[in-house]
Amino acid sequence: MQAEILSVGTELLLGEITDTNAQYISARLRDIGVFVYRRETLGDNRARLTEAFREALGRASLVIATGGLGPTDDDITAECLAASLGLSLEFHEGAWEDMLEWFRIRGREPSASDRKQAMIIRGGIPFANKAGTAPGQAIITGGKVACVLPGPPREMVPMFEEHLLPLIRSTFTDLIPLHIKNLRLVGLPESKVGEALRDLMDSPNPTVAPYAGQGQIRIRIAARSEDSSEAGKLVSAVEAEVRKRLGDYIYGEDGDTLESVIGEILSRRGLSLAVAESVTGGLVAHRLTNVPGSSRYFKMGMVAYSPAIKATCLGVPEEAVRKDEGVNRETAASMAAGVRALSGAKIGVATTGFAGPTGGTEREPVGTVFVAVSDDDGTEVERYVYGGSRTAIKEYGAGRALYVLWRRLSKSNRKRRDQAEGVDR
Ligand code: ATP
Repeated sequence: MQAEILSVGTELLLGEITDTNAQYISARLRDIGVFVYRRETLGDNRARLTEAFREALGRASLVIATGGLGPTDDDITAECLAASLGLSLEFHEGAWEDMLEWFRIRGREPSASDRKQAMIIRGGIPFANKAGTAPGQAIITGGKVACVLPGPPREMVPMFEEHLLPLIRSTFTDLIPLHIKNLRLVGLPESKVGEALRDLMDSPNPTVAPYAGQGQIRIRIAARSEDSSEAGKLVSAVEAEVRKRLGDYIYGEDGDTLESVIGEILSRRGLSLAVAESVTGGLVAHRLTNVPGSSRYFKMGMVAYSPAIKATCLGVPEEAVRKDEGVNRETAASMAAGVRALSGAKIGVATTGFAGPTGGTEREPVGTVFVAVSDDDGTEVERYVYGGSRTAIKEYGAGRALYVLWRRLSKSNRKRRDQAEGVDR
C-alpha cells in the first residue's frame, strides 16, 4: 500500500522551519506497514497545491497533508483537497461545536474567521483538535484516503494517533506491520560495522541497516511477516548474530542512550560520579543529568575553564596547566582525579581541549580533546582530534567522554561477571 505526504507552508520552503511532521508520519506509517513513496513540500499556492493533491491521489492510496488549516486567507489546504476531488466544502455543525467547546473551556470567544475552520469536505470526516482550534479532516473516496492535518506538531501528532491511524487500519485491512529492533553501538566506525555485517545487510527479510550519527551507530533490524510471532523470531535470530559479532560495542537498544545506560549501571552498582569539564563546557553533566533519577549517582559537575581554577580547585600541577594551555594528558588526568577527591565520588570524569575556531598549539591543534576517567583502579586518558565547528567539537568531546566512561564501566562489569562465573578470559 503506497502513501504520499504533502507538507504545506511557505515557511518550509524558505527554510525557516524544519519539516518534522513528514518525518513523524513517515516513521509511524513504516511501523504499521504503509510504504511512503513520495514526500513533497509546497507553499500556500492554490493551483500548485490542488495539482499536487490530484497527482498524489492518482498514484497513492493514502495522501496525508499537514499545514495550512488555520483561519486566515492563506490557509487553503482543505479547499485545495476539495477542489482536486471536484467536491465542495460545507459548514459542519459537529466540527463547529467541537471548536466552540475548545473556546468555552478557555473562556474565549471565537472570531468570525474561525468559522472557516469548520468547513469540511462534503462527505468528509472531521477530526477534533484537542490542542488547537483547526479540525483536521479525511475523506474516503474510491478506496483511497485523503487527509489534512494541522501544521503545529503538538496538534498534528495527537490527531494522527487518535483519528487517522484507526481510520487507516479500518480502511486498509491487509497491512503487515514491521517488527523492528534497534541496537545501539559506540566506539566503532561505520565502515567496520558495515564490514562485519555485510552478509546480513544483503538479506531482504529481515533487513539490517546501520545509521551513523553523533559518534554512534544504530543498527536497525526489521522483519515483515503476516505472522507477527514469526517476524519476532526472524528479528531475534539476526539480533543474536549481530550481538555475537559486535557485542562489545553494543551499549543498548531502541530508546536507550549512552547516559541512560551509564545511569543504570551506576545505580545498580551503587557508584557515584563527578565531572570536571573544560572544553565541553558542561555538556557531559547536562547529558548525564538529563536522565531521570540521576541525582542518585551524579554528585557534581564543574566547568573548570581557567588554568587558575584547574590548579586551585582541582589540584592540577602548575606546569601541566601551562603546557599547551592545559590541553594535555596530565591536566585531564588530574582534573578527573581532582573532582573525584573534591566530591567524594567513586568515579571522576574530565575533559580538556581546543574547540576553536582559533587557538590551539603546534602540538595540540584545534579539535584536540582529552578525556579522562578516574576510579579506584586508576586513571585512563584518551586523546582525539575532531574536525568541525566549535559546537560540533564540544558535542563530539562530550560523547567521547561518555563512551570512555561506559567502556570502563562495562569492562569492569564483565570482569565482575567473569569472576562470579569463574571465567578466565
Ligand atoms: P494554525 O492553525 O496554527 O495556523 P495550520 O494548520 O494553518 O495551523 P501552518 O500555519 O501551516 O499550520 O503552520 C503553523 C505552524 O506549525 C508553523 O509555524 C510551524 O511552527 C508548524 N509547522 C507547520 N508545518 C510543519 C511541519 N511540516 N513540520 C513541523 N512543524 C510544522
